[in-house]
Amino acid sequence: MKFETELKIAIEAVEKACRLCREVQSSLVSEETMTKKDKSPVTVADFGAQAVICRALNETFPDDPIVAEEDTAELKAEGGETLLAHILTHVSAILPGISESEVIEAIDSGASEGGAEGRLWTLDPIDGTKGFLRGEQYAVALALIEDGEVVLGIVGCPDLPLDINDPESSTGCLLWGIKGEGSYIKQLGESSRAKINVSETLESKDASFCESVESAHSSHGDAEKIADLLGVTNPPIRIDSQCKYAVIARGDASIYLRLPTRKDYVEKIWDHASGALIVTEAGGTVTDIHGRGLDFSLGRTLLSNKGIVATNGKFHDKVISAITQVLGDSE
Ligand code: AMP
Ligand code: MG
Repeated sequence: MKFETELKIAIEAVEKACRLCREVQSSLVSEETMTKKDKSPVTVADFGAQAVICRALNETFPDDPIVAEEDTAELKAEGGETLLAHILTHVSAILPGISESEVIEAIDSGASEGGAEGRLWTLDPIDGTKGFLRGEQYAVALALIEDGEVVLGIVGCPDLPLDINDPESSTGCLLWGIKGEGSYIKQLGESSRAKINVSETLESKDASFCESVESAHSSHGDAEKIADLLGVTNPPIRIDSQCKYAVIARGDASIYLRLPTRKDYVEKIWDHASGALIVTEAGGTVTDIHGRGLDFSLGRTLLSNKGIVATNGKFHDKVISAITQVLGDSE
């Protein structure tokens, strides 16, 4: 199997980060959150998960750059000490003996600018921080990119039910995709795995679609118009984070729409690299709203793309046409 060591290390690291997130979530107190410039809440778990995963990658692949979401500027600023102390407590529970400076060093190792050459990892330590704080869905997402192409994608979904139709089913899944070798799922903490495939739904009218809970991240109004054009009658499934890609890859829904709410917003590579590979390796199709492939070679953002459309691949062009009808085809 390709990338055997990379996959093993990445899965172990994501599992540890998921454990940390679950532990923080169960002890969440208000002082463990603070406000980022973009107003999305950052938590101890966000920094802690980045420390745990970056440290694992640095140990085994010291030459690999990492493009991760968080940096330590706010931890180093006035008032950051309390938060840093909390982070150290939680990271130490997973990595006994780690020091404060090693935590900072690990987090800061995620500052790579990315690009088209060689290999790099991209990490969203907690995707869907709002879902995390609401006690709903969030994900830990890690991907390996080689010469601008995603070759390995891992998404840990600590709160995602194994069976979406049965809220009582046990929660916590880990999904991964390997370029050219398919996508898989396992229960968090378990070892047995299963191959996953997108849904067999052939007609867009029979599809379920998913979108962000946050209407600031994807236009709910435009999605409704597009769903009408496609004849979709099922209500939207609103889920935070890359759990949306997980739900498409498992065949629970057939369309994921991420429709721009602002002209100037540029998607980040860590928000899509892992999920997009898992969907394509499960048989689906992922493009932007204009039908263009996602270009992960342009640095920390998807500079040449607008929005995201992921489907089971059976009626992708029809979805893109409906989007064009509603939004027009301008940039
Ligand atoms: P979701 O869970 O689908 O709401 O997506 C969460 C992600 O949305 C976060 O990781 C942010 O990076 C990203 N985000 C923040 N602002 C916007 C925006 N205006 N449009 C799209 N995505 C955004
Ligand atoms: Mg994110």
